[in-house]
Amino acid sequence: MAANDLTPGFDDLLEANRSFADTFDLAGFDGVAKAGVAIVTCMDSRIDPLGMIGLKPGDAKIFRNPGGRVTPQALEALVLGAHLLNVQRILVIPHTRCAMASATEAELHERVTASAGSDSTWQSFSVVTDQEATLAEDVAKVRSHPLIPDTLQVGGFIYDVDSGLLTQLC
Ligand SMILES: [Zn+2]
Repeated sequence: MAANDLTPGFDDLLEANRSFADTFDLAGFDGVAKAGVAIVTCMDSRIDPLGMIGLKPGDAKIFRNPGGRVTPQALEALVLGAHLLNVQRILVIPHTRCAMASATEAELHERVTASAGSDSTWQSFSVVTDQEATLAEDVAKVRSHPLIPDTLQVGGFIYDVDSGLLTQLC
């Protein structure tokens, strides 16, 4: 692909990447979770999954989606993490003031439809009505998965986006 065929709009980020690469010191990792940790959390930009638990790049496998849900693909990531990538502890971390737990699916459809200017109801949004109950179910899904070893520690937590504090619920 010729340079002039590239989608425009990324120059500032590419320039920042060149600065990043100038002092790059993350080479030589083998991709395992050095601290033995995997995190399932929300895509929310207020969350720093590594920083919140004192880890750094290389330490943990991180899977993010709207709401921090244990989806089939999250389970796929956790099975691979447990067997091939040194994962021994799993944290499932939804958070306070999450859009997926504070709006109904109908409200999200209404807002997205208004923004898109076309019907969005064919796109499902996995909203959560009871965040603590859903967290318990999601943690149970991980613990009961036939390919997640019983020796793994699986915990459910809520992250408070206003205080930065993590509270363990199960
Ligand atoms: Zn969220």
